[in-house]
Amino acid sequence: MTDPHQLLKQVFGFDHFRGVQEQVVGRVLDGRHTLAIMPTGAGKSLCYQLPSLALEGTALVISPLIALMHDQIRSAEALGIKAAALTSADDREAVVRRLLGGELDLLYVAPERANGEGFRRLIDRVPLSMIAIDEAHCVSEWGHDFRPDYRLLRGLLDDHAELPRLALTATADPRTRADILVQLGIPEDGLIVSGFDRPNIRYHIRDRDSGGRQILALLAERPGPAIVYAPSRRETESLAAQIAASGRPALPYHAGLDASVRAANQAAFVASEEMVMAATIAFGMGIDKPDVRTVIHAGTPKSIEAYYQETGRAGRDGEPAEAHLLWAAKDFALARQRIEEVPAERQGEERNRLASLAAFVESTACRRAILLRHFGEDPPEQCGNCDNCLNPPATVEVTEVARKLLSA
Ligand code: ADP
Ligand code: MG
Repeated sequence: MTDPHQLLKQVFGFDHFRGVQEQVVGRVLDGRHTLAIMPTGAGKSLCYQLPSLALEGTALVISPLIALMHDQIRSAEALGIKAAALTSADDREAVVRRLLGGELDLLYVAPERANGEGFRRLIDRVPLSMIAIDEAHCVSEWGHDFRPDYRLLRGLLDDHAELPRLALTATADPRTRADILVQLGIPEDGLIVSGFDRPNIRYHIRDRDSGGRQILALLAERPGPAIVYAPSRRETESLAAQIAASGRPALPYHAGLDASVRAANQAAFVASEEMVMAATIAFGMGIDKPDVRTVIHAGTPKSIEAYYQETGRAGRDGEPAEAHLLWAAKDFALARQRIEEVPAERQGEERNRLASLAAFVESTACRRAILLRHFGEDPPEQCGNCDNCLNPPATVEVTEVARKLLSA
């Protein structure tokens, strides 16, 4: 086995592990099951890519989205790591041949396929090194993106109990974490949490009045790349048109656009130093653009976790960046109606999630402190880099939304 520090330098070109990477990689190389909670941009991929080179056999990587897998494969291959995916979009025979020939360091697969009989028989024929479970919050009903197929992975994991399993996620509050550990059979001492603070992001939250005009005014003073998250496909298109009409390059992005249009818009955004992407939350996962200066929410996000993840796409280069949330009471009224449509046993949890979010947007306390406490950290009372710290509100406002939420 090659020395991890040597691999880090020779393959990845880095002199140092970042944050908890060293600890996580060390555990995997020791063969111990691990759940790593690391913020977006912290470098989770390296935590399985590096062990996949150091250990004999192929590493399985469970990943929820085909587009995400292909991005990961491209960047792995650029480093000389041999990676492939088994999806409907890949040449299955060629991938199987490489796998059986022992030619793959990494094999990406979606949970639906990983749970299938055919796949289980296939991997019984090859030596495996480890199993990585990316976006592991999908295994928990407490997480914000539960997927039943993630829950079924336990069978595959237990059939290969000797392999180190590494679950990775950027977003998991303490209860979700505990649930991921149980669901994936990882011991409590296998939990590694890295700091969630993004000190270079300045948080601003205020009432939305005009929508469009407010957003144009914010963008006029912030020339760098920006993402505006809008609540509907239609709104992304009308916002992109308004922004473009104001003289700033802007494009829409949502799941209803053709795949080719989405890819072209994304590529244009990644290459630009001034473009605004007006997008639904379909945009962002797996996109590596370090110089996004501003993230604006033109409507209330789904949860504190979603807010953290979406704003986390700003300032990955560590330079100053801003997050602006423009919210309205009607966003919460709508969200409350939607909760009526989810299965009865989940409604209580969804209501709590919404109430936490309402308390967050209406709070007059330090935004960062609330966010970090939500993720189980113990931050200082004041960050000095959010709206409430920089401009302490004179009066404590009545929490209109919170009150409405409680009076069902
Ligand atoms: P995540 O999955 O946690 O969001 P990625 O794995 O996509 O993050 O990594 C984010 C960026 O950080 C990548 O550009 C990667 O090359 C970089 N990176 C990872 N580890 C290190 C390191 N030890 N030193 C410097 N940069 C790193
Ligand atoms: Mg990742």
